[in-house]
Amino acid sequence: MTESGKYILVVEDNDLNYQLVEAILAKTGCTVARAVNGQEAIEMARKHVPLLIYMDIQLPLLDGLSATRILRGTPETQVVPIIALTALAMKGDEEKALAAGCDGVLTKPISPKLLREVTQRYLSPSASPLV
Ligand code: MN
Repeated sequence: MTESGKYILVVEDNDLNYQLVEAILAKTGCTVARAVNGQEAIEMARKHVPLLIYMDIQLPLLDGLSATRILRGTPETQVVPIIALTALAMKGDEEKALAAGCDGVLTKPISPKLLREVTQRYLSPSASPLV
């Protein structure tokens, strides 16, 4: 992780899921850091504020929705984009993620194309939020 905090934080407890996401993001030239539970995610994000957070929902110690609510209530991380990564295909889960403060939701299995598009959208300084 860089001292400047210019990195993407991926919160994912499953090794294979993390490796998939990390491989896709690494190709875009981004620096990636991993947290394996919601508590670690909050500690890392407070120490070095990331540019973007991909947040798994089902996590040990502190789940992704709870972690998102806490990050939204923390001044330093209030406006950091958070995209939920959810394996839960139920329609209500997307609404729950958005209600918790997530900016968007990607459903597993993760589409590499969508992941790249979302990453570029949130990292581009000229990107329109309505694209
Ligand atoms: Mn999980």
